[in-house]
Amino acid sequence: MYRTHNCGELRMEHVGQTVTLSGWVQGSRDKGFMMWIDLRDRYGITQLFFNENSTDADLFTKARTLGREYVVKVTGKVLERSSKTNKIETGDIEIEVSELEILNESLTPPFTIADDSDGGDDLRMKYRYLDIRRNPVKNKLMFRSKMAVETRKYLSDQNFCEVETPFLIKSTPEGARDFVVPSRMNAGQFYALPQSPQTFKQLLMVGGMDRYFQIVKCFRDEDLRSDRQPEFTQIDCEMAFVTQEEILQTFEGLTKYLFKTILGKELSDFPRMSYDKAMKLYGSDKPDTRFDMTFVELNDIAQGKGFGVFDSAELVVGINAKGQAGEYSNKDIKNLTAWLQRPQIGAKGLVYVKFEENGSIKSSVGKFFSDDDLKVWGEKMGAEKGDMLLILSGETDKVRSQLNDLRLEMGDRMGLKDPNQYNPLWVVDFPLLEWDEDSNRFHAMHHPFTAPKKEDVANMLNGDHETMKALRADAYDLVLNGSEIGGGSIRIHDRTLQAKNFKLLGFTEEEAQEQFGFLMGAFEYGAPPHGGIAFGFDRLCAVMNGETSIRDFIAFPKNNQGRDVMIDGPAKISQEQLNELFLQSTAPTETES
Ligand code: ASP
Repeated sequence: MYRTHNCGELRMEHVGQTVTLSGWVQGSRDKGFMMWIDLRDRYGITQLFFNENSTDADLFTKARTLGREYVVKVTGKVLERSSKTNKIETGDIEIEVSELEILNESLTPPFTIADDSDGGDDLRMKYRYLDIRRNPVKNKLMFRSKMAVETRKYLSDQNFCEVETPFLIKSTPEGARDFVVPSRMNAGQFYALPQSPQTFKQLLMVGGMDRYFQIVKCFRDEDLRSDRQPEFTQIDCEMAFVTQEEILQTFEGLTKYLFKTILGKELSDFPRMSYDKAMKLYGSDKPDTRFDMTFVELNDIAQGKGFGVFDSAELVVGINAKGQAGEYSNKDIKNLTAWLQRPQIGAKGLVYVKFEENGSIKSSVGKFFSDDDLKVWGEKMGAEKGDMLLILSGETDKVRSQLNDLRLEMGDRMGLKDPNQYNPLWVVDFPLLEWDEDSNRFHAMHHPFTAPKKEDVANMLNGDHETMKALRADAYDLVLNGSEIGGGSIRIHDRTLQAKNFKLLGFTEEEAQEQFGFLMGAFEYGAPPHGGIAFGFDRLCAVMNGETSIRDFIAFPKNNQGRDVMIDGPAKISQEQLNELFLQSTAPTETES
């Protein structure tokens, strides 16, 4: 037997017992005639004790040879420690070792296996199996496992049936590029890896499965950022005979359940906000509502006073940075303006108004506006002495997005994003379609299977171009502290409406039939009304831990170039494999040429 207990388990009540433990050598302290070794496994650390006077001489010598990360099995007696520690859970006891077996040796690890590792990202990823021995990574993987278990518990208690859908499919357009897999048995044809199981879960509803879920890998070939991976996991769900309201209740229930059982936190009912309001007040469809600093539109009071920049703008809009007037020197404002003007944000300029503690008003547009004018702005924006207004202007969509960046930055600088606070929010009533000036066509705001609101169906079937821009959908996102953690919609379940949607999205009838004939066909055999949602599982795990990066919640993630540096993939394949897959003809051999 390798172990009677694990390394995190022994307490005072075990004193006197003989136990066997197995694990890795975390480190040792050698005091000459006495020696201590920390033995680690997934569950914790237990101190081993060797005493030259009482320990067998060979054993003592052998213990001295142990290096970091050696794998050993020990047997010994549990003793009460003379100097206890509460730094580890087994800090009251130690093991006086009487048998020691080296199960495997180890090279010196390339970085220290400690909570604060000295290993850089690349090294940690290359030796991910060593990284996983560290608490921060190990704990995140265990957290994820608990989340998956509890999700399954909650959903199966609610009659959801877990169904696996295929990975080798035909592409489903969800807005990203597909990963494709060449087919050996079908020359020149390709599977696509699913960006989500969207069409399959809808077909399960047509199949009468009624309530489906799956914790499932999805694949999107996108440029990567810290919160994106080419393969990621969703809690994917679909329900039949259901209204938007019931979906929101069910998945608000799931979210509350996970917070309660896993974090011990009670969340109160989730507020809801329309997409339009979120854009107007926060310039974003995923606002971080842990702090206010909401947008105030100033067109009515800031235009028509001779300041050309404002007068020519579609929108003049600002935020009130409370108590910041004294914090920003001219140079600081200049830096902030430069930050806003970087190409990533692209603002033209920044107007500020400072309401100084001494009652004076300072502004970058003091030449164009009197103090009385500026006081009116201040009143509208709830400014008091010490506050600083930050105002942008220009084209509505662009300015809102720029001011959203500025608001989030100010939230960071002012320490307003409390990591222990969780503010969920349902954003609802999304537009169905989004007009894209560049490609001169509509895009689906959520995806092409989303239904318009019931009251908009007639408009969608018969309306003109402008009407289409105003169509609303029963589509919703669940936002948590500014991260989108879930999204879904009520779906179209009628062939005519689905065909119309494809047409609006620029598909010819033939293209729609070729790509989605199977779905529209299914709609002709008694498709029930249905809808669903998918949670970004990796991101949910990260956000619940107050982290921005999902990477350590994934056991073997890819780097920013989409590479797995441990296995060194992706990699070339042999000419033979290429030939089999009809990807490249064989280069002529010497005898042939
Ligand atoms: N398939 C959608 C997505 O991946 C989610 C949904 O509509 O259920 O975003």
